[in-house]
Amino acid sequence: TPPPAVNEPSLSYAPGTPEREALKETLKAMKAEQRDVPMTIGGKKITTDTKIAMHPPHELKHTLGHYYKGGPEHVNMAIDAALEAKPAWEAMPWQERAAIFLRAADLISGPYRYKMNAATMLGQSKTPHQSEIEAVAEIADFFRFNVQYMTEMYEDQPLSEPESAIWNRVEYRPLEGFVFAITPFNFTAIAGNLPGAPALLGNTVVWKPAETQIYSAGLLMEVLEAAGLPDGVINLVLVDGPVAGDIIFEHKDFAGLHFTGSTKVFQSLWQTIGKNLPKYRSYPRIVGETGGKDFLVMHPSSDVQQVVTALVRGAYEYQGQKCSAASRAYLPKSKWPALKEALIRDIKTVKMGTVEDFSNFMGAVIDERAFDKIANYIEIAKKSDEAEIIVGGGYDKSEGYFIEPTVIVTGNPHFTTMEEEIFGPVLTIYVYEDEDFEATLDLVDSTSPYALTGAVFSNDRYAAHKAIERLRHSAGNFYINDKPTGAVVGQQPFGGARGSGTNDKAGSIINLYRWVSARSIKENF
Ligand code: GLU
Repeated sequence: TPPPAVNEPSLSYAPGTPEREALKETLKAMKAEQRDVPMTIGGKKITTDTKIAMHPPHELKHTLGHYYKGGPEHVNMAIDAALEAKPAWEAMPWQERAAIFLRAADLISGPYRYKMNAATMLGQSKTPHQSEIEAVAEIADFFRFNVQYMTEMYEDQPLSEPESAIWNRVEYRPLEGFVFAITPFNFTAIAGNLPGAPALLGNTVVWKPAETQIYSAGLLMEVLEAAGLPDGVINLVLVDGPVAGDIIFEHKDFAGLHFTGSTKVFQSLWQTIGKNLPKYRSYPRIVGETGGKDFLVMHPSSDVQQVVTALVRGAYEYQGQKCSAASRAYLPKSKWPALKEALIRDIKTVKMGTVEDFSNFMGAVIDERAFDKIANYIEIAKKSDEAEIIVGGGYDKSEGYFIEPTVIVTGNPHFTTMEEEIFGPVLTIYVYEDEDFEATLDLVDSTSPYALTGAVFSNDRYAAHKAIERLRHSAGNFYINDKPTGAVVGQQPFGGARGSGTNDKAGSIINLYRWVSARSIKENF
């Protein structure tokens, strides 16, 4: 039995710590080096004639290296490689598959720690704090806790009746075919978990990362190989989404989709899969985490500074590019003057810039498309007489995609930025009359099609209880007196329902059950 999982502690990178200097050195070395990322198919490194440059989002003039873009033939090769690797991988004792992922976790938290951080900082514009939490600690947690949960699954076997000559057992077989993993730019940890969880259970995978994640994805592939992952178990293809989808969703052996990304894309993939159902050998498993419009509600009984800190961290860490980011807040009128003053004061201390300056709290947003979309929402607020920007509102893409942490206040609880997902450092606030707390909960529930995360601050237990009850279906991750971000594997399994996904809880046994197809065996003696 593998050892029980323990959360990987995060290093602080504070001044004077040895890790600070080590990370600075690694950043410098990786920046100086041109890292080219090939595809990895059946263990072979595949290059093509189409080389695409990769740039840090915060320093567009710099080139980190290139990736080799593939086409339909590479998707076909990856499917073939996955199917070829499947019998041996599936037959391997599960303890050996576990050992590979435990070793990968140890490599990430050990010799590759600074490189994983540096790749995520440079490629995805994260501060050391942001990348350490996810590209080191969370990814190691995913691998280790998934192993623990797999062990629990395999040990949870129905028993034969005492003294009968019958042995009943359930065998958790991997799916028949291959799994397709599509990973987003915003978390390197998710790039580990989406191909990693199905693979751990004996599936083989075609993995397509977001284009803006390729720099760190290349390094992650290297770690998995160093951990001993056999050729063909996870195949990294660097192609446009539709190029992969057109082939994969037509293939009879397509067995499952593990997805994190936008609601719109997920819905369209699901429709394609539905249309192609008769072509498949089995009904594919569809697991997706999509958008969010995550809320924070403050009851008048709670503490102003506690709420302000939660808003600043919840809305602006990771540049607001988290599905879980605090994006709409409902604050009581009696506390509003004090909240407003503290919020403006604290946001004005937020430093933004390149990731090499460790005193920055924010980096740049990921790319021009994201920048333009976020800027457009800021413009909507600037032009509207229903909204006021009380802090921030500036943006500049001359050197990198920088957007100031922005607070919009509106008297219209259905204002565009209260309802639509922005995926950037923009928070919209609605101030409610204190006596309307319960009516405000109704508003929170009915305003958005999403239900990913939410937070309620209250020192009044009755009010907190009301919120827990009334907002039962409004969030898959619900926080009381804490920000709505930062779920920890093994502590708060992550995922939401409604428009936010299938709620198969990343980093939990619920997720792992989706990657197996059980067989019941009854044997008479
Ligand atoms: N699990 C992360 C959190 O709790 C968010 C992941 C995401 O943005 O997809 O903050």
